[in-house]
Amino acid sequence: MKLQTKLAQVGINFDKRTGAISVPIYQSATFCHPALGESTGYDYSRTLNPTRQALEESVAQLEEGHKGFAYSSGMAAISCVLSLFKQGDHIIVSDDLYGGTYRLFDKVFKNFGLDVSYVPTEDILKIEGAITSNSKAIFVETPTNPLMKISNLKEISRLAKQHNLLVIVDNTFLTPYYQRPLSLGADIVVHSATKYLGGHNDVVAGIVVARSEQLAEKICFLQNSMGAILGPQDSWLLLRGIKTLGIRLEKQQQNALEIARWLQTQASVEKVYYPGLKEHQGHKILKEQATGFGAMISFTVKRQELVPQILRKVKVISFAESLGGVESLITFPAQQTHGDIPVEIRESLGITSSLLRLSVGIEDAEDLIGDLKQALEVYKGDN
Ligand SMILES: *Cc1c(COP(=O)(O)O)cnc(C)c1O
Repeated sequence: MKLQTKLAQVGINFDKRTGAISVPIYQSATFCHPALGESTGYDYSRTLNPTRQALEESVAQLEEGHKGFAYSSGMAAISCVLSLFKQGDHIIVSDDLYGGTYRLFDKVFKNFGLDVSYVPTEDILKIEGAITSNSKAIFVETPTNPLMKISNLKEISRLAKQHNLLVIVDNTFLTPYYQRPLSLGADIVVHSATKYLGGHNDVVAGIVVARSEQLAEKICFLQNSMGAILGPQDSWLLLRGIKTLGIRLEKQQQNALEIARWLQTQASVEKVYYPGLKEHQGHKILKEQATGFGAMISFTVKRQELVPQILRKVKVISFAESLGGVESLITFPAQQTHGDIPVEIRESLGITSSLLRLSVGIEDAEDLIGDLKQALEVYKGDN
């Protein structure tokens, strides 16, 4: 079955009893036991809830993994995965990283003795150089948030196997529609399902998919033990969102390419970061390991003063955090999504005070470009 078909049909044969096309929302905390020592398969919703199960099975299939897990947020999903490790373990992590993930590593798991090295994971030699006898995993974001750097997942997985390391990939930006890290050799995929999987800016959720049965068992134990599961209503919203993932992303990507090319022609714009552009650092690798480039664009303006003006003047595009929804959003990473990264590190990575990040939605590209045009307009004599 082709991907678009799989997407449209998620959950469709789940409720055998009634044949419901839309997976029912099982708003029940607990389930009645037929007799002592017997179970319907469902006992208590933290452990297993039918609506969440339909979602978990669907994402596992889409990511080509053994088992999927749904959480109350992307951070809850990542926390659960990091709980696989113990004091003294060392993890190599992409240096350009979603700010909340950086905060989780640096302010939470560090206190539990997890040792972390931040490395430009687009450079395989840097990863290799960071491996120690305590290294247990490589955590990769690709494309990275917000600089869209691309890491070579096949190469990283090959290196990881040699050193017996797990490869964990944050696949939020491309989703299984464009990139399936498990099929490239990764062991675990994580998602902020709040973004493209949900796709409508109406639910906060996280997903983990494990490639092997052995890892799935460990994660299943942790999910139930730690308890940050996704509720049935939100699981249903995700199932509903996933059905249109393909057509949303196609339109978003098409818009993004048009906008990225237009931004490149603007005198007030300094640099455009979009992996769909031929001159982008990771364009070639991405073409090999993914079937699309996504719809996230970052760009810098030549004059920092333009940043507040743009954020104030956009009308069609909303000035808001988050990404991946049908509505276009613009953010200022240095103060928002990446505000928790120390300023020296941020600046050295390129997350400067003139960098803006645009999540391109499904609106008409002409309207979006028109909106950016009026927001970028520099008054005469002010250039
Ligand atoms: C938003 C985001 C997260 C965090 O997910 P939440 O659902 O906000 O908890 C993690 N990784 C990436 C790449 C993100 O964009």
